[in-house]
Amino acid sequence: MSDRSKQTNSALEPIHTIKTAGRCPICKGPVEPKYRPFCSKRCADVDLGRWFKESYRIPTDEAPGDGSLGDSEDY
Ligand SMILES: [Zn+2]
Repeated sequence: MSDRSKQTNSALEPIHTIKTAGRCPICKGPVEPKYRPFCSKRCADVDLGRWFKESYRIPTDEAPGDGSLGDSEDY
C-alpha cells in the first residue's frame, strides 16, 4: 500500500532561497556565501545580538575597542 496523496517537492530546493539574497540586511553590502545571508561575521554577529536582546538597538560603527574577548573590566 502506497499512500502518497500529495508529493511535496521538498527535496528539490532548500528553503534557503531568501529574496534578500545578495544584500546584507545589516549594512546592505555584498553578501558573502561564507556568511550568508550576511556579508561578514561582524554583521552576522550584529543580527545575532538583536535576537538575543530582542531590541532594535543598532550599535554604532565606531565601537570602543573590540569586545570579542571576555576580559575583565578591571585593567
Ligand atoms: Zn553587512
